[in-house]
Amino acid sequence: MKRRSLVPAFIAHGGAGRRAPADELPGRRGLLAAGAAAARILLDGGDALDAVVAAVVVLEDDPLFNAGYGSYLTIAGTVEMDAAVTIARPIGPRAGGRAPFAISAGGVVMVRRVRNPILLARAVMERTPHVLMGGVGAERIAREAGLRLCRPEAMIAPRSRERWLVLARGQRPPQHGTVGAVAVDSHGNLAAATSTGGVTLKLPGRIGDSAIPGAGLYANPRGAASATGEGEAILKTALCRDAVEALRRKPAQDAVMNAITRLAALTGGEAGIITVDAKGNLGYAHNAVVMEIATFNPVAGVSHRFAPGIRR
Ligand code: ASP
Repeated sequence: MKRRSLVPAFIAHGGAGRRAPADELPGRRGLLAAGAAAARILLDGGDALDAVVAAVVVLEDDPLFNAGYGSYLTIAGTVEMDAAVTIARPIGPRAGGRAPFAISAGGVVMVRRVRNPILLARAVMERTPHVLMGGVGAERIAREAGLRLCRPEAMIAPRSRERWLVLARGQRPPQHGTVGAVAVDSHGNLAAATSTGGVTLKLPGRIGDSAIPGAGLYANPRGAASATGEGEAILKTALCRDAVEALRRKPAQDAVMNAITRLAALTGGEAGIITVDAKGNLGYAHNAVVMEIATFNPVAGVSHRFAPGIRR
């Protein structure tokens, strides 16, 4: 059911982690391009899911980010990507002051041959009765959905290989990170998308938080969220659900700051999160060195900034 009245809003992150090298400040360019892709859809009265997926595709295609082409490599020098989408849609008239919503989600883990894992995550949501898929079954869905499959080596960007070689020498090169986006559209749909190559030098077979609903992303009638950072800490604290549930009692910015503070206190880990609530209020917080974001609303347009970190 379409109820056109709300003002759309959008926010994307480019990962929480160490500062990117000075010559890679064009991370800003990628995030602005992602924001512009989402803005075109949202301004046109388009769907929040289309907006977050379009933004994440831009970032997956950009080798500066740890997602899609540009993914970090495992300790064995291979690429294994996780990605997911979720959306909460109003589906009927308000009953007792409350709009009934339908929540959908789809994700993939450990995919190696799909150029844009976020498109496969969406295909899992739309073409199967399941939420999460991996392995050959996920690749079969990709083929059925007409998505581009490539040789696993074709997913290894030259700079990811160089970075891996530097890491193997025991150094820690800075880099942009995992990507994610959340949006509310003019119909009141709330969507989130997250895509990653995982953490630096992960063991083959390791699955992080990014594709797990509640952890790396979450959407319900109150809001949507996408996370980045140490997946193990995010999984243990169900970071995105924690933040979105808090929207019941708190403004968006307080909800994400408290969720990051709780994650740090419980796990000692580092993470970042972005959120949008049903009214279009945005929140962003992290306790890493840096987290870059792009935001959009119809009044201010698309802008980029470094999100201030929570002192540790
Ligand atoms: N959360 C991602 C993972 O653990 C990594 C990241 O966000 O940088 O796989």
